[in-house]
Amino acid sequence: MPHIDNDVKLDFKDVLLRPKRSTLKSRSEVDLTRSFSFRNSKQVYTGIPIIAANMDTVGTFEMAKVLCKFSLFTAVHKHYSLEQWKEFATQNSACLEVKYICLDVANGYSEHFVECVKDVRKRFPQHTIMAGNVVTGEMVEELILSGADIIKVGIGPGSVCTTRKKTGVGYPQLSAVMECADAAHGLKGHIISDGGCSCPGDVAKAFGAGADFVMLGGMLAGHSESGGELIERDGKKYKLFYGMSSEMAMKKYAGGVAEYRASEGKTVEVPFKGDVEHTIRDILGGIRSTCTYVGAAKLKELSRRTTFIRVTQQVNPIFSDDK
Ligand code: 5GP
Repeated sequence: MPHIDNDVKLDFKDVLLRPKRSTLKSRSEVDLTRSFSFRNSKQVYTGIPIIAANMDTVGTFEMAKVLCKFSLFTAVHKHYSLEQWKEFATQNSACLEVKYICLDVANGYSEHFVECVKDVRKRFPQHTIMAGNVVTGEMVEELILSGADIIKVGIGPGSVCTTRKKTGVGYPQLSAVMECADAAHGLKGHIISDGGCSCPGDVAKAFGAGADFVMLGGMLAGHSESGGELIERDGKKYKLFYGMSSEMAMKKYAGGVAEYRASEGKTVEVPFKGDVEHTIRDILGGIRSTCTYVGAAKLKELSRRTTFIRVTQQVNPIFSDDK
């Protein structure tokens, strides 16, 4: 008989962080930099652990140039040619971290994927391997024991993802992050919360839940540095943003949607937001402020100082669309 897991699983929208007494005087005292030592590659990392998603509309070279000034990562999308890479590498050696490999599949649960992780680990013993996506502790453990260092967590939360609609599969992101972080940290591995952040508060909640890194797609879409066609209509500017398994992406890179599958992503028009630098400052400012509310002098302390409270409403909706 099918089994029902009766534990309540939560999303970012279901909780708020409870403020705590703090000795911090100003958000300028908060340090968002983290240092990690990876379990399998033995490499060390220092930076602000936010990553631009490996989507062709977000993980662009232009994005990488700006984000690296803030010590943020960009997972560069896979559709650049070798020539484009060579040109970028000669002009921007400071933005290049080729010590990382991101193995990204929609369904990280297949045996074939586990074998692939093992194989890449064998061939690249000193590279830091990110692998996913999964949403449950046992699969996090299996991928770490197969050689991955950082596990990407998230099935279905993405802003342009339609997996939950098309397949009925998924896991509320906050609970997925809490459970997967616990499993990973038990093995000295790390996780990325991938997808579902719609505002700086969600990024703070992901870190509070135990994410080591947070990956952003939609929040970084629609900027000058983002990919996607710029559209002008009625004097307003928009940029196209689409999922990597949307019909638009599959037409662009695979000649169309194969007959046996459905697209699991959609295309949206994002109002043009200008330079991404402003958005980055807004996100980092928000997280610093979160840290002052809960008394965390460092991002590292945020999850230890986090108590989530369940809520039925996050914001006052009267003057906004955030219902
Ligand atoms: P966002 O920050 O926009 O909520 O989520 C970004 C994440 O959505 C990406 O890092 C990736 O994991 C996921 N994603 C990107 N494109 C697609 C897609 O076409 N289908 C699905 N299911 N997920 C996608």
